[in-house]
Amino acid sequence: MDPFVYRHSELSCERVSLRALAAATGTPAYVYSKAALLEGYRAYDRAFAEVPHIVCYSVKANSNLAVLGVLGKAGAGADIVSGGELFRALRAGIPTDRIIFSGVGKTPDEMRAALEVGILLFNVESLSELRALDAVARELGVKAPVALRVNPDVNPQTHAYIATGLRTSKFGIPYDQALEAYEEAAGLKGVEVVGADMHIGSQLTKAAPFADAVARIASLVKTLRERAIEIRLVDVGGGLGIRYRAETPPTHQEYATVLLPALRELGVTVLLEPGRSIVGNAGLLLTRVLYRKDTGEKKFVIIDAAMNDLIRPPLYDAYHEIRPVNEARLGGPVETVDVVGPVCESGDFVAKDRELAQAQEGDLLAIMSAGAYGFAMSSNYNTRPRAVEVLVDGDSYTIVRRRETYEDLVAGETAL
Ligand SMILES: *Cc1c(COP(=O)(O)O)cnc(C)c1O
Repeated sequence: MDPFVYRHSELSCERVSLRALAAATGTPAYVYSKAALLEGYRAYDRAFAEVPHIVCYSVKANSNLAVLGVLGKAGAGADIVSGGELFRALRAGIPTDRIIFSGVGKTPDEMRAALEVGILLFNVESLSELRALDAVARELGVKAPVALRVNPDVNPQTHAYIATGLRTSKFGIPYDQALEAYEEAAGLKGVEVVGADMHIGSQLTKAAPFADAVARIASLVKTLRERAIEIRLVDVGGGLGIRYRAETPPTHQEYATVLLPALRELGVTVLLEPGRSIVGNAGLLLTRVLYRKDTGEKKFVIIDAAMNDLIRPPLYDAYHEIRPVNEARLGGPVETVDVVGPVCESGDFVAKDRELAQAQEGDLLAIMSAGAYGFAMSSNYNTRPRAVEVLVDGDSYTIVRRRETYEDLVAGETAL
């Protein structure tokens, strides 16, 4: 579903006019659709209905408490990668038996916090981490439920910065070392081996890498069972891509069709860790055109959102569709422009050489597909307050994070 459609000649989120919203909240503003969020979660829930499963939303994609709360109430769990994300998940009311802890660099303090509340699973990424977790758990007199994140060495065919399942990546335990690592884990007193885990990358638009990876994990689980290491949870990670431009990623149903045969046969509970595919297209970044500028060589549209608000274009060379809020602009002239922000960096752009309906100073533009890795990766660079976040539900909206103030920005600093 696309919750962002033109109504009465204005782009809206569900039934809220983005022009009216901008007038009330100011810009830049992140705007999320509750209905689209819920649909993103439920599509997974339906696709995996025939096996026991938990959809553990990847908190890092968008960690706003309201997003976590909406998904948690609908039945989602959380995939966390830090103590801070554990704090958020708990604060949002996600039950601990639906929380899983991933990431290559968990500290002993973070492990302790997660063991104290009793989470469902630790996805362990190295032998050193395994030994550290064992020590922390024994100190607390508990057993840590563990899956090893195995690196299946498949090429996810995505951007190098978000490919994680290759032998050359820092993530997971190499496939050919996994058996030995499991045998060590099985002998540790502070650890209970319960699962196997993979996550091969993000923004995958082909099904084949998922199929290859799950086949390797399934074969490992069978070998482990022959050695009396009983695996009851298989975590297939996240990574399903979304449509930013012309991509045609697998549907949830196609994704499930690729994964389910191997998983069904194992008789395990399936854990999923989707992030982007739940929130990415449920959100946009609303911005206003400040100025136009023509250097003779190039035309620039200067907006009030910048790389500190949305870093994906400079970081990943990512494409974000840009729509005018005023539908009438779509019938007007078209021009090729760079859309740039106020930050003092040439890398501060949202689009380069983009054919766009001519935008006038004061116009509102919507930067689409910004619900995932948008606000979550934002910063205060150039001492810019982070944007307001708004959650729309039907014809009403809630400010779910107020715009930062200048005082917020210096809180915690000491002037000498
Ligand atoms: C980032 C991440 C995810 C979520 O990836 P998406 O592409 O947003 O679905 C899931 N699992 C792990 C371990 C991750 O690091």
